Amino acid sequence: MAEFKELSQRLTTYLSDAEISAIEKAYLLAKEAHTGQKRHTGEPYITHPIAVAIILAEMRMDPPTIMAAILHDVIEDTYVEKTELVERFGKEVADLVDGVTKLTQITFESHAQAQAENFRKMVMAMARDIRVILVKLADRLHNMRTIHCLPPKKRRRIAIETLEIFAPIANRLGMHAFRIEFEELGFAALHPMRYRVLKEAVTHARGNRKEIMDLIDTEIRNNLKKANMPPWKLIGREKHLYSIYKKMRDKHLSFSEIMDVYGFRVIVDKIDTCYRVLGALHNLYKPLTQRFKDYIAIPKANGYQSLHTTLFGPYGVPIEVQIRTDEIHKMAENGIAAHWLYKTEKFLFDDAQTRAKEWLKGILEMHKSSKNSLEFIENVKIDLFPDEVYVFTPKGNILELPSGATPVDFAYAIHSDIGNTCVATKLDRRLSPLSSALISGQQVEIITAPGARPNPAWLNFVVTGKARSNIKHFLKKQQRDESIELGSRLIEKALHNLNLNLHLIPIEKIESVVKSSGLDSINHLFEEIGLGNRIALLVAKQLAKEMDTTSKPSQPEPHHKHSLAIKGTEGIVVSYAKCCRPIPGDPISGYIEKGHGLIVHFEQCPSLEAYRQHPDKFVSLRWEEKIEGDFAVDLRVEILNQRGSLAGLALSISDLDSNIENINAEEFDGRYFAVSLTITVRNRLHLARVLRKIRNTKNVIRVIRLKPRAKKKKKY
Ligand code: MN
Repeated sequence: MAEFKELSQRLTTYLSDAEISAIEKAYLLAKEAHTGQKRHTGEPYITHPIAVAIILAEMRMDPPTIMAAILHDVIEDTYVEKTELVERFGKEVADLVDGVTKLTQITFESHAQAQAENFRKMVMAMARDIRVILVKLADRLHNMRTIHCLPPKKRRRIAIETLEIFAPIANRLGMHAFRIEFEELGFAALHPMRYRVLKEAVTHARGNRKEIMDLIDTEIRNNLKKANMPPWKLIGREKHLYSIYKKMRDKHLSFSEIMDVYGFRVIVDKIDTCYRVLGALHNLYKPLTQRFKDYIAIPKANGYQSLHTTLFGPYGVPIEVQIRTDEIHKMAENGIAAHWLYKTEKFLFDDAQTRAKEWLKGILEMHKSSKNSLEFIENVKIDLFPDEVYVFTPKGNILELPSGATPVDFAYAIHSDIGNTCVATKLDRRLSPLSSALISGQQVEIITAPGARPNPAWLNFVVTGKARSNIKHFLKKQQRDESIELGSRLIEKALHNLNLNLHLIPIEKIESVVKSSGLDSINHLFEEIGLGNRIALLVAKQLAKEMDTTSKPSQPEPHHKHSLAIKGTEGIVVSYAKCCRPIPGDPISGYIEKGHGLIVHFEQCPSLEAYRQHPDKFVSLRWEEKIEGDFAVDLRVEILNQRGSLAGLALSISDLDSNIENINAEEFDGRYFAVSLTITVRNRLHLARVLRKIRNTKNVIRVIRLKPRAKKKKKY
């Protein structure tokens, strides 16, 4: 109970008794759930979530956030599940805990700069609620404060993650105090030796600097007093170790170059005073003009505001001065968290602030208009959280995709070959549909198969331009190849009927026909024939005419004597009519439809009748010996209207490796269902087995294959 007392003392300063007792209930559950668990420090585990809650209580966060902080590790580390949290503390608290848990479950391992940036965005995208980030930051802050108890390897990983991910996030949120502490603790944990050496050097230098610091301090104070300035505060600024280290490392400055600069900050009551102080200081010391920055008029992207100026001090030493109001100072220290921290205080907003272009400007404006935290959070979300999803590749790289992207988009983003041959996907190691919308933080694995091809149906769900254009391009090329294939077979067959053989016709003869047709190539001619834009029989006759000089064709035989073989793998230039749904084994014929290629019908299908008198379009067909793939057929099943009848029927069908593509049940006679089904089969034999199985299924009265009835009188 002792640990809760410290927290509740802080809570009493800004929360009601009822709110605190609700928080205590969360504490009791967390304490019980973590019973027996210990931290690396040896303390009972509960001390950690309480410490996190205290950090957030100092920021005066709202009760749901404090409760979430206390419960933040229970889903991850104990038997407690989200549903229990929903029941006991409501959805808001449960969602916050769940959000923190999800962030805890992803870890950052790559050292690449771009990956760190993406990882930060992923964290933001996953959080969806700014309070989740604040709990996570407080959690990380307490872990960093106690990091010395971790084994070295883990300490290193946590330190890198803190410096590369969490310090920049705190910075992005304008939370200066958090950022500085992350950087100092991260630096000390990652490079203990460098930290110690630098710290000693700074302490030493500070001694040498004291005299000049004091002199500048006195001169500024006297000057401001003389100018009759409204109330102000002067603070000597010390650079923190990590920023010195970074400057030495990244800007190749020497230690003394950095330490030779003297930093001061003047904090005043209002904006107007900032500019008056600036004037007074420029009067006292000569300013370095190109170093003056007015971040009050034009705030930084994270909302930071201040006047920055560099002056030539006594003995010519450079002095960097920041001038800002007390209010701006609090914003600069706490950033987004200032919303909760200064909720009760009145905020006045200056014109300058509304000029900020980046999100913090938006946040400040929202702060003016929004009445409660929830509304405020809703508004912030839109600005802060990206529209993209961030997912992991199996190797741990992070890929950014537009929201709504699917595994197919992911596959094409990696490589068009991967996209073109992808057949399945695993999301977080579970097989999932290729059309699933990806969620930030997921690990995506694409399964490819050599020879697999893009499915035109993918165009219905992909969202990236890259996937769309690749699929379209592939289909177009595929259609072209297939049309050429079909066209050459059609022309061969037509020539055969004229007693000619395509391979024996000299190439010049063919080219002359190509030319006279106004086409570019032989393939183009075949493509046109395959697509039905040109008629094979007419082209064959043209070729025959070209050959006339050398050979006399015998009297043409009726064209249908030699039928064209269908392989089932022709692709989109050969399609199977929906009216009769022919399957391998059925007698078939077809016709060429302009722009679409060959349509295959059941031999007796009445819709063929009209084409039989057009030998140029009509093609007699047969099936190749071996056919691959699935073909759709329509069935009608009459079944007793009883519980489980339909399920039994479906089971019989899937038992024999047949898929149901469409099902429609209609009740008739009160006692029966008439079920219309479209199922897939490989051939007639397969169909026969399926029909037999259905017939023997319980409650089935009758089953028939539906196809258009042949006319009794044939026209020839
Ligand atoms: Mn924790």
